[in-house]
Amino acid sequence: MSIGTAENGRFSSAGPAGVPRHDWTRAEVRDLFHQPFPDLIFQAQSVHRANFDATEIQVSTLLSIKTGGCPEDCAYCPQSAKFDTGVKAEKLMDIDAVLHEARAAKQAGASRFCMGAAWRSPKERDLDKVCAMIEGVRALGMETCVTLGMLTGPQARRLKQSGLDYYNHNLDTSPEYYGQIITTRTYQNRLDTLEHVRDAGIHVCCGGIVGMGESADDRVGMIATLASLPVHPESVPINMLVQVEGTPLSSGEKFDAIEFVRTIAAARITMPRSMVRLSAGREDMTDEMQALCFLAGANSIFYGPKLLTTPNPAADHDKRLMDRLGLRPME
Ligand code: SF4
Repeated sequence: MSIGTAENGRFSSAGPAGVPRHDWTRAEVRDLFHQPFPDLIFQAQSVHRANFDATEIQVSTLLSIKTGGCPEDCAYCPQSAKFDTGVKAEKLMDIDAVLHEARAAKQAGASRFCMGAAWRSPKERDLDKVCAMIEGVRALGMETCVTLGMLTGPQARRLKQSGLDYYNHNLDTSPEYYGQIITTRTYQNRLDTLEHVRDAGIHVCCGGIVGMGESADDRVGMIATLASLPVHPESVPINMLVQVEGTPLSSGEKFDAIEFVRTIAAARITMPRSMVRLSAGREDMTDEMQALCFLAGANSIFYGPKLLTTPNPAADHDKRLMDRLGLRPME
């Protein structure tokens, strides 16, 4: 007998209305993942509909404001200076150029503008410029998100003062598998940055990547860790690895689409009020796979031709897909 059906009475593992819980055990999350696919999707849809309009998709645009030359060694990342991927190190963009991109994103329908910099952590003079970018983007009437690497408490508070809405900092994978992917900073470093961000009153965007050679139990561990944070991240990006030539993860079998959809569903059920973002890797997904992800509770995407340095579906393709599925951008 599966869990997750109304009949067996265990549907309330997330609460029928999807009331957030923070005490998820790995055994519970494992049971969620491995239940029959129809039960899993039904449960995820039920939780989704209890908390969101299932026809609305939040649309964000992501701009790389400082590309390449990063001293960290994240094995999936083409921007690490440790790998020869052809990505050139660039300087931090000018504020005017960033605002020009933000205006174009707004016109294309994005409600949130995310800015990413390939740093281990920001330097003080760089933070001044980023704060000015945040103020400029907010003045356009958009939500702001930045990802700048590790933050101290005072840095998080400065970003908050500039009006920052969200800070992205992913856990990437399970605590056990993490050391296979990154050696230049620890899982605890990441948790500390998340705590500084949360303490500063900034919303948290935090998720992970699947398809990096991790086990099914590592995916369970990643979701259980995210769902056990004291407050669930308001945004949970679930990325599928993009295999980039020159990185240590450039080869290997393509990740199983059904297992990816299961990961989305588990995120939706365990973090019922979070925006679950179908993030990197959409370029390699069929329209049908993306539709399944939306059915499993994904309700956020990135619009725009590039995600930092990797390709993303063209905006007009996304618009057509949303039309075909009867989905519309969230205001
Ligand atoms: S993921 Fe971020 S921190 Fe890691 S190498 Fe890439 S840019 Fe640097």
